[in-house]
Amino acid sequence: VDCIFCKIIAGEIPAKILYRDDDVVAIADVNPQAPDHLLVMPVKHVPNVGELAASNDDATMAKVFTRAAHLGRERSTNGYRLVVNSGADGGQTVDHLHVHVLSGRAMGWPPG
Ligand code: AMP
Ligand code: ZN
Repeated sequence: VDCIFCKIIAGEIPAKILYRDDDVVAIADVNPQAPDHLLVMPVKHVPNVGELAASNDDATMAKVFTRAAHLGRERSTNGYRLVVNSGADGGQTVDHLHVHVLSGRAMGWPPG
């Protein structure tokens, strides 16, 4: 698969890796939308959250979201926002599932 996040995970494209284990990687977003903006993703290529749900890989789903929550809590005592864009109308631009972890400012609602 020609995937920028797979290439980052493989070390073929540089990124600031903030967490890594056998199943999950977290990187700094290159175009941060908050003072702190991370992306948490499965090591294995999964296009979006719906595809992961359909694959019945509940373990990977749990690992990604559990890690996102841990990182959010670590990086801000004031709260944080987890975002998963899915598909065109969801605003997804990279088709490798990732959870945005945003913090460091008060978030607005509703999102745009
Ligand atoms: P989304 O629109 O939800 O698919 O989010 C994709 C995110 O990936 C955006 O916030 C981009 O800034 C980020 N992004 C794209 N390319 C890179 C990269 N090479 N390194 C880090 N973050 C990236
Ligand atoms: Zn990928």
